[in-house]
Amino acid sequence: MAVFRKDPCGIICLIITYSAVLYADYVVVQWLILPTMAMSVSGYFHAVAFNLIVFLLITSHVRAVIADPGIVPLPAAAIDFSDMRFGVIPKNILSQDGENWSICQKCEAYRPPRAHHCRICQRCIRKMDHHCPWINNCVGEFNQKFFIQFLFYVGLAAVYSIVLIILCWTTTSSKHLKFPEHNAKVAHTIVLIVESILFGLFVCAIGCDQISAILEDETAVEQVKRNKGSRHQVEKSRTELLKEVFGRGSRLCWLCPFSTGRFPTITPPNFTQEV
Ligand SMILES: [Zn+2]
Ligand SMILES: [Zn+2]
Repeated sequence: MAVFRKDPCGIICLIITYSAVLYADYVVVQWLILPTMAMSVSGYFHAVAFNLIVFLLITSHVRAVIADPGIVPLPAAAIDFSDMRFGVIPKNILSQDGENWSICQKCEAYRPPRAHHCRICQRCIRKMDHHCPWINNCVGEFNQKFFIQFLFYVGLAAVYSIVLIILCWTTTSSKHLKFPEHNAKVAHTIVLIVESILFGLFVCAIGCDQISAILEDETAVEQVKRNKGSRHQVEKSRTELLKEVFGRGSRLCWLCPFSTGRFPTITPPNFTQEV
């Protein structure tokens, strides 16, 4: 099920993201590769390689944006809280899989363990990590993989841009450019350096947080809710925890944004049977 949030902040962040990526691609091809390595094997190689990274970056981003992050379905009839006061409706119920579902007062429905309510999505999200304006969506159980892939390809594009800047500015043929082209090349290069450093450091910090949260088996929301000082017990192996996010297939597919996501149908337990 594809989703798209009409959140102004998220939509502005999407426009900034695509503008920054397309601008970086324009500078790399137009102002770095073409004036210095045009028609050479290395020129073709770098143009294809950089555009391949941009393609994978945009694909993983689009999938993180439109994927269902793990929205907990609503029951056909909302829970009537007036019944709860008289003890008619239980606070917790067991699903068919033995999961302990609890009540979300905002959704007026039961939600599985580790699901949290997102104020922006206005729904409970399975294993919600945080609501990310850069993908205009929640980062949850079903789209975290695409979100981390997006961070990885942004980081890779940032590092590759810096490498290409160094390569192209140390190539002697770049001196052929005359005024005002030379000044334009200097200006675009400076903007690309600033952009690459800013986005590179940003995704590196978030990426490290994401991986440590997976290995700790604790989402950002859960880290905040846990009492300070208490230690969280991790019961699964690191590989098992990573497979839960990136899928059970080959590890080579972990960075592939084309694999079909895990979108199991979630059937909310029918609480009337439990009463
Ligand atoms: Zn909720
Ligand atoms: Zn959200």
